[in-house]
Amino acid sequence: MTKYCPKCGAQNPDDAVYCIKCGYRFTEETVQHRSEQAAPSTAPGTANQPAAQPVTSQVQYCQECGSPVPYGMNYCPVCGSFNIGPNPPARIPRPNGVLVLGVLQIIGSAIYIGIGTFIGGLGTAMGPFGLIFAQLGLIFVVIGILSLIFALAFLSGRNWGRILMMIGAVLELLDFPIGTVLGIVILWYLTRPRVKAYFKQPK
Ligand SMILES: [Zn+2]
Ligand SMILES: [Zn+2]
Repeated sequence: MTKYCPKCGAQNPDDAVYCIKCGYRFTEETVQHRSEQAAPSTAPGTANQPAAQPVTSQVQYCQECGSPVPYGMNYCPVCGSFNIGPNPPARIPRPNGVLVLGVLQIIGSAIYIGIGTFIGGLGTAMGPFGLIFAQLGLIFVVIGILSLIFALAFLSGRNWGRILMMIGAVLELLDFPIGTVLGIVILWYLTRPRVKAYFKQPK
């Protein structure tokens, strides 16, 4: 089934979020099907753009999220980007939000490793009485290293890194109110089509 853009009249895939012709964002109320609305006027001088041509078998690709876009159309139906090319993107660039989250994770890891090294060193210097501190320091260092591996996997676009980050965001939800807000924002962000495409592309 197809639907028609209320703004420009272009024929769109039924699951399109953005009009492939003009980039209009569909909502439930604005979606109109052919039976409910006549095609827009194509009289000379009244339409800025010609009516949608029949969709050919040729396909272009969104350069932001890699989704196929019908030939001759200007916008990605999934993410609304107008960066459309004839071939699938060779490499989807790392979204800036992923860079920010990854760098924050690296900073957190470094803090753990730093604290662990300090406590561990202190414990070692105290001799037998410092054993508990030495062990505690070691635990911090191990957590820091694991966290660092996870941060690097996340930055390089491993999908398990994205899944782990989402699990972390779900746990964050319990930390009302700041953690709840942060968790919702991170979960929303990591499920955007373009961000998902970055993690899903072949490595
Ligand atoms: Zn449109
Ligand atoms: Zn797209």
